Amino acid sequence: MSGIYVHIPFCKQKCTYCDFASYPHETGKADLYFGCLYREMKGRAESLKDYGFDTVYFGGGTPSFVDPKYIVGGMKQLRNHYRIKDGAEITIEMNPGTVTAEKLALYKKAGFNRFSVGLQSADDETLRKLNRIHTVRDFLDAAALLKGENFSADVLIGLEGQTEEDVKKSIDLAADAGASHVSMYALKPEEGTPMFGKYLNGDLPSEDETADLYDFGVKHLAEKGFERYEISNFAKPGFQSAHNLNYWHRGQYIGFGVSASSFIGERRFTNTESIDEYTACILRNRVAEIFSEEIEGDERMFEYVMLALRTSEGVNKRDFASKFGVSFDERFKTALHDTAKCLSVTEERVSVLPEYLFVQNQIVVHFMN
Ligand code: SF4
Repeated sequence: MSGIYVHIPFCKQKCTYCDFASYPHETGKADLYFGCLYREMKGRAESLKDYGFDTVYFGGGTPSFVDPKYIVGGMKQLRNHYRIKDGAEITIEMNPGTVTAEKLALYKKAGFNRFSVGLQSADDETLRKLNRIHTVRDFLDAAALLKGENFSADVLIGLEGQTEEDVKKSIDLAADAGASHVSMYALKPEEGTPMFGKYLNGDLPSEDETADLYDFGVKHLAEKGFERYEISNFAKPGFQSAHNLNYWHRGQYIGFGVSASSFIGERRFTNTESIDEYTACILRNRVAEIFSEEIEGDERMFEYVMLALRTSEGVNKRDFASKFGVSFDERFKTALHDTAKCLSVTEERVSVLPEYLFVQNQIVVHFMN
């Protein structure tokens, strides 16, 4: 499988926990940015002419914040220069405070068939403290417009003062509004964000408290009919995100725009996070990469295992053997022994037991040598 990611680095304002490449004060550069984005799309087309793409994902930032003409133009460029397969999953991220019927109609006409909505919390006071631009009412209005569509909602765990009842309310709000998919993320306070100050002050739940809230959320999502298929992702049957699964299957993807990452052939590369540097490079007909690495030898195997163990399906042993010419059980005999209590092991598969998925990163290190 192959996917396309497009980064839209504009937001109305910055959320207190955000360290993504999003620049509320640079929205005046949208014309220049999108001109360069389209140029980058065109510029890479020749080298990717043999690819057929199964998924497209417009993320950010807040793609739904910018004038929809830019999004429609982006899809047009992609279709002009790339083979987007029939039935491709085409997703756009939306902030509930920016969704309108007119925008949705334009997105759907351009081919978008999956909508990822940032709910985060079902409590207006919490949303205000996070500096989100939307209210619970905005989410309900957006969900009403999305009735019958395939849409996902993001929920945050580990917020100041958050209780199990709060987690339940957020999940119920998303589920009852018709979401077919929920991404439930545990907050990681990043240095340089206002949220990091709260973390240093001890205002946030401890790691153990967050883990307990997360466990509670997992159970409640199951009660609402959402199956966990990756550490932070839950879907009604048939509504898993093909785009994200491609990442975890170590599939190929090309990313366009600032901070976008790509994995093509065995090369991983990432664009600059700076809009100015990005546009300067593209205008000079240069790539805007600030990082590039060829993945070689055992690294490929480690990546494959690390990514597969994020998912509920885990490592398919037969697929592993055919890709790497070695039996998974033989190659990782010691790691399998050392992490046995955290794993489900069958003839065909190895996966991390659901109760250990939250600490999957501590388990996979055993498979890194
Ligand atoms: S909407 Fe998303 S990308 Fe924009 S500031 Fe908030 S968290 Fe960051």
